[in-house]
Amino acid sequence: MDPVLVPLESRRPPRPAAAAAAGAPVFDRLGRPARDLRISVTDRCNFRCTYCMPKEIFGPDFAFLPRSEILTFEEIRRLAATFVALGVEKLRITGGEPLVRRDLPVLIAMLAELRTPDDGPLDLTLTTNGSALRHLARALAQAGLGRVTVSLDSLDDDVFRAMNGVDYPVARVLDGIEAAREAGLAPVKINMVVKRGVNEQSVLPMARWAREAKLILRCIEYMDVGHTNGWRLDDVVPADEVVAAIDAEMPLEPVRADYPGEVATRWRYRDGGGEVGVISSVTRPFCGDCTRARISAEGKLYTCLFTGDGHDLRARLRDGTSDADLLALLAGIWRLRDDRYSELRTEATTALPRVEMYAMGG
Ligand code: SAM
Ligand code: SF4
Ligand code: SF4
Repeated sequence: MDPVLVPLESRRPPRPAAAAAAGAPVFDRLGRPARDLRISVTDRCNFRCTYCMPKEIFGPDFAFLPRSEILTFEEIRRLAATFVALGVEKLRITGGEPLVRRDLPVLIAMLAELRTPDDGPLDLTLTTNGSALRHLARALAQAGLGRVTVSLDSLDDDVFRAMNGVDYPVARVLDGIEAAREAGLAPVKINMVVKRGVNEQSVLPMARWAREAKLILRCIEYMDVGHTNGWRLDDVVPADEVVAAIDAEMPLEPVRADYPGEVATRWRYRDGGGEVGVISSVTRPFCGDCTRARISAEGKLYTCLFTGDGHDLRARLRDGTSDADLLALLAGIWRLRDDRYSELRTEATTALPRVEMYAMGG
């Protein structure tokens, strides 16, 4: 029942030190293009998920970034436009919780105006905990957002309240998902982090519900991002185990990836009842196809989720660097990229310095 492995057909060999030019895609040292940019618009969040921002550490005295250190909408747009000139086709807005950033629809409208070098539209999407969707979904859709991914770890209210760390009721997230659908932000995807002994019992109820509601569930292996969540390999429920459990009740067959670099391994219900995906970052790393760059709220560029430090782009944005020099800088950073942390992961590597997921943008 192995999923179909898709060759990266469109991968071309890395270019030698070619000059950066708008419209010319860049490739890193492993031949991976820059296709997907995740932009964190805030390091703040109204949840305290145990696996991301445990409340024991992110308490009332925690020092989040002051406003002056956060990129402005104009700065974010400029960076996004530069990445698009280098081949990025997909923008994902994230955080922290992106919907706590004031006037977010204004930024969405600015990003929705961007076009690929051959004048195509971008895939513009957002990942959220869903708590503010009832309030904002319509405005986001009107601003040009294409679709949303909502994080939801259980339908069991007690389990969900414990995992989000702020006793937030599951019913309000479900209402947010409904609001997203009403606003046309479809297809709505659901991200579920599965943690051993915490919510593994929730996988089947979530799969049944998502199938019934025609939502696309993605079960994510609990990852060793950052250092605050006390990650242990024993806490990871392998994606194969999740697929086997669903398959036993609702038979599955593999789906070919839509595009090289797709994060989830996708499965379809054999009776035609939709699909489900798993993200096996721990047990089956996919670094070879990783085409993602991340920009944190304060403007650092990270070329891997598991990195210790980023490249300070905010300084360049604020020191008068020209558009051409910015393009050359980003192209140069991407060309030197050789990250493949998940492929090299051992218990020992989890101790290496690295940035928290909420800070970098998941
Ligand atoms: N606040 C938004 C949300 O929760 O959807 C966006 C930011 S959050 C950091 C992005 C995604 O990362 C969420 O789906 C979350 O579940 C996932 N995530 C956070 N910590 C994780 C971890 N340790 N392992 C796996 N996924 C994680
Ligand atoms: Fe907040 Fe998202 Fe992290 Fe949960 S996963 S604490 S909602 S940023
Ligand atoms: Fe990409 Fe780094 Fe994750 Fe590998 S470990 S898939 S290079 S972000």
